[in-house]
Amino acid sequence: MAVPLLLAAVLAAAAAAPPLPPAPSPEALHASWTGVRLSPPSGAYTPEALLADLDGLAAMSGGAVRVVGRGSSAEGRPLLALAAGTGPEKVLLWSQMHGDEPTATSALVDLLSHLVATRDEPATAHLLSRLTLLVLPMLNPDGAVRNDRRNAQGIDINRDAVELQTPEGRFLKAVRDEHSPAAGFNLHNQGALVTAGRSGPQAALAVLAVPGADSEPDGPAVRRKKGLAAAMALAAEPIAPGRVARYDMSYTERAFGDSMSRWGTPTVLLETGGWHGFREAERLVRLNFVVLLEALHALARGEEAAAAPAYETLPFNARGRLVDLVLRHATVHGGRGLPPFHADVAFVRPRPFAGEGRRLDGATVTGVGDLDHLEGLEEVDATGLVVAPAPPGGAVSWEKTVAGLAARGLAKESVLLLDDDALTRETKAWAAGLAITPWTVVDLVLFRKVEKGYAVDGFVRDGLLTK
Ligand SMILES: [Zn+2]
Repeated sequence: MAVPLLLAAVLAAAAAAPPLPPAPSPEALHASWTGVRLSPPSGAYTPEALLADLDGLAAMSGGAVRVVGRGSSAEGRPLLALAAGTGPEKVLLWSQMHGDEPTATSALVDLLSHLVATRDEPATAHLLSRLTLLVLPMLNPDGAVRNDRRNAQGIDINRDAVELQTPEGRFLKAVRDEHSPAAGFNLHNQGALVTAGRSGPQAALAVLAVPGADSEPDGPAVRRKKGLAAAMALAAEPIAPGRVARYDMSYTERAFGDSMSRWGTPTVLLETGGWHGFREAERLVRLNFVVLLEALHALARGEEAAAAPAYETLPFNARGRLVDLVLRHATVHGGRGLPPFHADVAFVRPRPFAGEGRRLDGATVTGVGDLDHLEGLEEVDATGLVVAPAPPGGAVSWEKTVAGLAARGLAKESVLLLDDDALTRETKAWAAGLAITPWTVVDLVLFRKVEKGYAVDGFVRDGLLTK
């Protein structure tokens, strides 16, 4: 009887091991964000405000969040490494190594705030007992104050992993080498005019299991990366359905994410894109908050690799279809004195995140003609409307133009008393060299034909339709 009794005792002990507390659902985390968020409505911290919030969090966290590393940017701004949790598995998360990519910095502060606020709840307590998070928010404060991708030396820190000529890159490398984290999260923003697949919606997020070599063999590190990337995509699904894409990039030795993987820290890339609508910046911070926490819970539970197969099914980032505004089927007086014609007109607006290219100087026409292949985040049916370049100088300039026409007997109560030919001539005169043609920064006047001529119907100013 001794052996069966022993077996029974072993089984009883196994059964007595407490089950893991359930991880919070994406919906529950999404709902909880409003109660813990510290990040600003703009979604973009200044370095000073960030330090104040991080100091405050660490001070009230009862040791749950602590500063474990200090560095200095090229221009002497403080760099901080914070730790949360005491678990054996170390996880490195760094944000805003591109100064004009702020979303994840805000999400990381809110995430730390959530961990502090819920540290005695079973799910968070379990996470903090399994993981030690090493958090480096805003690795490029010098770029952040200039809204510039690069650091004060003009170097793209994310291409400095081999040469290590930037103090910010050396700080990141030193934290990695000191702690040898078992997973890394490289947090960025990408362009907003990107879709999840050729025909999918605007990509709010894109994820990548960052390659650690050109031909990295499939193994635990790859499954961990793909699993974490997929866990983030799955977490976003109930909140932003279909809006997560797979980032498309091959191995780049001098990039940090790729080097982390090569150095032994399997790393995922999270790129925040666009999510057109009300309070876009806040909604994107909140989405980051949810997907990062869900991925960390999966890691803490040892379940992250289970999601890896879903990674292969994600649609790829696709560019070239989205623009900000399309006016459809307009009658165009283009500003060059040519007879009017029917066309669609597309605009792209400048954005805070410029990527590797140059920032646009203003809302820019990107297409004229049959633009059936494009989709505007805003679409305007301009059938029956006449569009012309507005005179440079905004509303004041337009009022002067109308006053000038009125003085010549060609306008009355904002109706232009002109026929087609006269409108073509007058448009060319007031446009003063501007034309509705690609790569021109220009505002538009919209007219409706009335009995005596043309009545103003609205404007496109800074790429936005105003009536
Ligand atoms: Zn970036």
